[in-house]
Amino acid sequence: MQISLLDRKALVTGASRGIGRAIALGLAGAGADVVLVATNEALLSEVAGEIEALGRQALVRPVDLRDGEAVTAMVKEVSKTLGGLDIVVNNAGITADNLLMRTKEADWSRVLDVNLSGAFRVTKAATRALLKSKHGRLINISSVVGLTGNAGQSSYAASKAGLIGFTKSLAQEFSSRGVTANCVAPGFIETDMTAALTEEQQAMICERIPLGRVGSVGEIAAACVFLASDQAAYLTGTVLRIDGGLSM
Ligand code: NAP
Repeated sequence: MQISLLDRKALVTGASRGIGRAIALGLAGAGADVVLVATNEALLSEVAGEIEALGRQALVRPVDLRDGEAVTAMVKEVSKTLGGLDIVVNNAGITADNLLMRTKEADWSRVLDVNLSGAFRVTKAATRALLKSKHGRLINISSVVGLTGNAGQSSYAASKAGLIGFTKSLAQEFSSRGVTANCVAPGFIETDMTAALTEEQQAMICERIPLGRVGSVGEIAAACVFLASDQAAYLTGTVLRIDGGLSM
């Protein structure tokens, strides 16, 4: 089975690093042109260079997802520039981990603002284009923590659980147009976000993972490429857990 996203137009948030970068490269590898969104323009430009080397178009759009007006203007502009949008991947995310008693309201708000409201802003601005597309696909990157909760991560878990309800609602709103909406819920993936943990903490986590290892960004990207494809046309409102069995 050959997956092709030839000439599809995709937008990926958090595309400067980690999972988002791998998703953007995966979509481009399957033939898509990709809009790259994050705040670090230099890193986005590096990813754009890699995509152009694959023979695809890459648009670098440095935008902070907390800026609603800038997000709306950017999504409208890229839809016009590319002549539509078929695939939106809300991947950008941050953590501000702490026990609830020590969680400052500003940190709580920042996590919800980027992880959940950021996805709302991008998706709302992209909805018209997605509904017009014959292959519309919304993919939101949640986390297994959004399903299981995790001590010390109440703000992050709340944002990731919120994304799941958001996605399922849109799966219902978009269904009459054949546009799908799904979540990917990664477990423990090796990126900057998890690099802050000590080797000891990482070893303790691996002990709890049935497959006995952390996941790679490529393993998340492969699932997103599949969800974006025609082969996944009958899959909507799901939460695909990619966690080595951690949350089963
Ligand atoms: P990462 O390496 O820390 O990358 C986060 C990305 O989000 C960066 O590209 C960052 O770009 C972007 N970003 C952060 N704040 C932003 C803002 N205000 N506006 C625009 N972009 C912003 O994280 P990752 O590990 O690849 O995680 C990617 C997604 O997967 C996140 O949603 C995360 O919650 C989820 N996830 C990760 C794991 C894991 O184990 N790594 C597990 C489960 C779920 P700039 O710095 O350039 O702004």
